Amino acid sequence: MSSKVTELHPATHVGNSAASQGTLFVVSSPSGGGKGTLIRRVLEVVPNLSYSVSFTTRAPRQNEVNGREYFFVGLQQFEEMVGGGEFLEWACVHGNFYGTARRQVAEETAAGVDIVLELDVQGAASVRQLLMDSVSIFILPPSFEVLRDRLIARNTDSPEELKVRLRNAPDELRQYSKFDYLIFNDEVERASAQLASIIYAERARCVRQENLVREVIKKFDAAEK
Ligand code: 5GP
Repeated sequence: MSSKVTELHPATHVGNSAASQGTLFVVSSPSGGGKGTLIRRVLEVVPNLSYSVSFTTRAPRQNEVNGREYFFVGLQQFEEMVGGGEFLEWACVHGNFYGTARRQVAEETAAGVDIVLELDVQGAASVRQLLMDSVSIFILPPSFEVLRDRLIARNTDSPEELKVRLRNAPDELRQYSKFDYLIFNDEVERASAQLASIIYAERARCVRQENLVREVIKKFDAAEK
């Protein structure tokens, strides 16, 4: 499973004083689709990019650290957070609850930092509906066999959990067309470069740089006087 690495790779600021609000990049795939690896690589190379650490009721796996991969909470605490409106989105995935903390996302984006959300397809749909200018990216595993072998190799799920994840995969795959981008994850190097390219391209959109342009034009106007 993915490792959530915000703490290891804190956002690097690009020194753009006219930075606009940060952008949400939602990355989804079936379990074992390799999104965690791609995200980790991209966080290492793309500056000014952060990672949203979700809350979950799932039990921690070996090597998972509370506050790094997830915030691990009990069902009662999760329900209280839902009741308190603390989640931007939440969903039941493969029998466990997962939710994105509104607060982290709000703080990072307000500071002009882009943030990656690693969500299942339900979460991606919720964010798309809620935030029209978010960017959603679907990671397509090359085959059922590769997906199954990845899940088996990471050795984190019981045979029952593995079955559930594999059984849910086809329905998740069918959601691909609702996403803005699709990355075929047959080769990690190429696929992670493509993910980074999408982030850079989205940053270059005119609408995301209006503050910057306004400041530059202001300087031109001042110079004319
Ligand atoms: P895992 O149990 O393998 O860590 O995660 C299972 C699925 O839940 C993955 O597809 C993962 O991307 C998704 N997930 C993780 N955090 C969240 C979240 O905050 N919201 C939603 N909707 N899905 C999440």
